[in-house]
Amino acid sequence: MSAAPRGILVTGAAEVATLAGGLRRGGAQDDPAIAPLGTAVACLGGLIVAVAAEPEARDALAAALAAIGASPDAYDVVDATGGTVTPGLVDPHTHLLFGGTREAEVPLRQRGASYLEILAAGGGILSTVASTRAASDQELLAHGRRWLNEMLRHGATTVEAKSGYGLDTATELRLLAIAGRLAAEGPVDVIPTFLGAHAVPSEVRAAHPDIAAATEAYVSTVIAEQLPAVAAQGVAWSVDVFCETGVFSPDQARRILRAARDLGLEVRLHADEMAPSGAAELAAELGALSADHLGSPSPAGIAALAAASGRARPVVAVLLPTVPWFLGQDLREPARELVEAGVPVAIGTDFNPGTSPVPNLPLAMSVAVLRLGLTPTEVLVAATVNAAAALGLADRGSLEPGRRADIVVWDVPTHAQLPYWAGADLARVVIAGGKQILVRTR
Ligand SMILES: [Zn+2]
Repeated sequence: MSAAPRGILVTGAAEVATLAGGLRRGGAQDDPAIAPLGTAVACLGGLIVAVAAEPEARDALAAALAAIGASPDAYDVVDATGGTVTPGLVDPHTHLLFGGTREAEVPLRQRGASYLEILAAGGGILSTVASTRAASDQELLAHGRRWLNEMLRHGATTVEAKSGYGLDTATELRLLAIAGRLAAEGPVDVIPTFLGAHAVPSEVRAAHPDIAAATEAYVSTVIAEQLPAVAAQGVAWSVDVFCETGVFSPDQARRILRAARDLGLEVRLHADEMAPSGAAELAAELGALSADHLGSPSPAGIAALAAASGRARPVVAVLLPTVPWFLGQDLREPARELVEAGVPVAIGTDFNPGTSPVPNLPLAMSVAVLRLGLTPTEVLVAATVNAAAALGLADRGSLEPGRRADIVVWDVPTHAQLPYWAGADLARVVIAGGKQILVRTR
């Protein structure tokens, strides 16, 4: 017989930012939906049962416990005194699973080495592919657990994880299966995305006369071999393509993502990170869940995303501002322009070994405030309810009855201080899927 579940009551917060009311865009992105002072959050069985004045929340929790035959006082109290309570953060874009590290590229870049010079020195994405193929399942699992734990300590309770460092069918499937295993282990929920079209693997490049022919051949393999295997095994929720000048063209991305749709998978894009290629337009055309990076979308691309934002399910712009920051580039995603055009904006870390080894979503929120001109509230919306929408998840990202019990108590009196203490460890308590995970005493 398993023990009856215990409830949790989070009380005493200086501020409860509920983010209630779903995805936000335009001026509404600056609304945190702060609950009245004295609001408590009650949870049971992995779900939120009440967000209400403390006496009401206690009554609702006692009633919910009684309804399952448990004692009405079978709950733990989480003391949030002086703190801010928000939904658990959602990181909508990471490359969680990889072998090896690439710190050697940092001094090369400081000396002005180009991308091609870094490749010639044995760096770049294909070096990560070689290390990942060579890593055992146990090594990749241990790596995944370590960095998910780090993300959790910074308040992330849901983390998207792309494949894309295998680039052959067996390794791509292995990465997605490991992401699924990490999701099953918890406490962080891991959402796997298939990114076979991340780069052209070196063995395919070597077998063709030029990069154009090799890219075409690899696109055919992704469509004919990798996608059907991913769909048959049910190991990914969505499919991503690195659509960028010199990588995969919008035409190639369209073919891959249409094939993914035909197999019942959702689609998203690495879009216009470095130069406008038509990827933002393609995301709008396909009704993708998200268009990610958007360092250099064309005006037509922004207009297309804006036009799509009126749909029942808009395309979410997922900005990854730690990438140009880590690379020492001046490039800044047009965050204000996107917000003002009515496009819902989310923020992710793009955690990866080459361009953003950043397992700290609040730090990405700080960079978004400092470099992109978003407000503290806009970045909180971007890392909760809008990030959940970018993953197609309606069951999290806000504190409302019926949502997953993913909750963070932060050691600051207002959410406006989350991006302000840049890089700090601010999470006091993290509740993930109804389990109280991290308790940091002050
Ligand atoms: Zn990425």
